[in-house]
Amino acid sequence: PPKEHHMVHVKAHFDYDPEEDLYIPCRELGISFVKGDILHVINQEDPNWWQAYRDEEEDQTLAGLIPSKSFQEQREVLKQTIVGDKNEDKKKSSNCSCVKKKKSKKTLFNPSNIDSEEIPTYEEVALYYPQPNRKRPVVLIGPPNTGRHELRRRLMESDVDRFAAAVPHTSRPRRDSEVNGKDYHFVPRHVFEADIMGSRFVEHGEYENNLYGTSIEAIRNVVSEGKICVLNLQPQSLRILKNSDLKPYVVFISPPYLELLRQNLAKNGHHATEDELKEIIERGREMENDYGHYFDYVIVNMDMDKAYDEMLQEINRLEEEPQWVPAMWLN
Ligand code: 5GP
Repeated sequence: PPKEHHMVHVKAHFDYDPEEDLYIPCRELGISFVKGDILHVINQEDPNWWQAYRDEEEDQTLAGLIPSKSFQEQREVLKQTIVGDKNEDKKKSSNCSCVKKKKSKKTLFNPSNIDSEEIPTYEEVALYYPQPNRKRPVVLIGPPNTGRHELRRRLMESDVDRFAAAVPHTSRPRRDSEVNGKDYHFVPRHVFEADIMGSRFVEHGEYENNLYGTSIEAIRNVVSEGKICVLNLQPQSLRILKNSDLKPYVVFISPPYLELLRQNLAKNGHHATEDELKEIIERGREMENDYGHYFDYVIVNMDMDKAYDEMLQEINRLEEEPQWVPAMWLN
C-alpha cells in the first residue's frame, strides 16, 4: 500500500526547470514546476534531491527529482552572495552522469547561518476542507489603479448577507450620527497605541492626527457572523494575517500590459501619463516579487467584468472544494 502518511505536500515558491539545472544528477529524472505549484514529496531520504510529483499529475509514476529544501536554500544563498557569476556553462549535455553531483556538493556547501524564513523554497501545505460556519476572509492586494477597490465594492453590493467589511477602529471622537461598533470602534488613542504594540491590528494609519485601523478582532467578528470578510490591504499586512487564525485567502489583482491599462483607465476618465502607467506596472512586479508567496490566486485585470466574474467564481469554489493551506494552520 502507498505510504500515504509519509507523504509531504509543499507549495513551491520558485520556478524550477531541470533542463537548466547544472547540479541535478540526471536531468531526465527531474521534473519542472513553477511558483505556486503544489508538489507531493514521496521521498526525502537523499539530502539534496527529493522525489516528488506535481499535484495535477495525480500519478505517482510521474514522480521525479526536485532539489531538496536545504539544497535549494544553499543555492539561493550562493546566488545572493556571488553576484554576477554568470560563467556557468548552461549548454552542458544532459548525459546522465553523477560527476556533477560531486561538484555541486563542493560548490554549494555554505556553513553560514541561513535564515530559511527569508529564502523562498518550499512551504509545507495541507488540505483544508471548507467549513460552512467559518468562511475564509478574502484579501485583495494590488497596485493602485488596477481596480481592486471597485472589485471589492461590487462584491459587497452583490450580496450584503454574504459579504461584509470589518468595522475599523479610530481614535477620533464619535460624531452624533455615528454608532459605536457599527461605523467605527471608537477608542482612546492610548488604547489604540497599546493595541498596535500588541499586534492586534493588521493595518493602521494616521489621518488628521487620528489613528485609524483594522483589527484582527474586527475581522474575526465578521467571520463569526458567518460572512465572508472582504479586505483591501497593503501587502505589508499579509504577514500578521497569515500568522493569525483567520486563514485569509489572498487574491492579487495584477495590472494588464501597458497599452490595455492605459485604455482601461481612460474609460474611467483617468488619462494616465506614460510614467504613471509604468509605475503601476512596476509596483505590481515588485509586489509579486516580494509578496508572491502569500498569494493564493492572481487575477490579471484586463476587463473589469471578467475580473469580477473570475473573482466570484474563485470565492464560490472556496466554499465548495478543499484547498491547500499552510500546514501550520491545521496543527
Ligand atoms: P472619517 O474620520 O471621515 O470617518 O475618515 C477619514 C479617513 O480615515 C478616511 O478617508 C480614511 O482615509 C481613513 N480611514 C478610515 N478607516 C480606515 C481604516 O480602517 N484604516 C486606515 N488606515 N484608514 C482609515
